[in-house]
Amino acid sequence: MLAYHCPKTKELVRTSLETSADQLKRLGGFQLSLWCPYCRTGHQVAASDALVCDEEIVSADENA
Ligand SMILES: [Zn+2]
Repeated sequence: MLAYHCPKTKELVRTSLETSADQLKRLGGFQLSLWCPYCRTGHQVAASDALVCDEEIVSADENA
C-alpha cells in the first residue's frame, strides 16, 4: 500500500491505495492528493516522496 510522511506532523500516513515501488518510480514528481488523518485535510505529495508500505509481503526480493 501507498504511504507517505505528513509534511506537517511528520507522521507516517498509510493509505489504502495499491501501489508498487515501480509505479512510484514511474510517477516521479507527479503530485498525489492524499488525505491526512492527522491534519484532517488533504496533502499534495509527490510520488517520489511517497513510499510503499506492504506489511503482508515480507519478502523483499522481487527480482529473483
Ligand atoms: Zn498532515
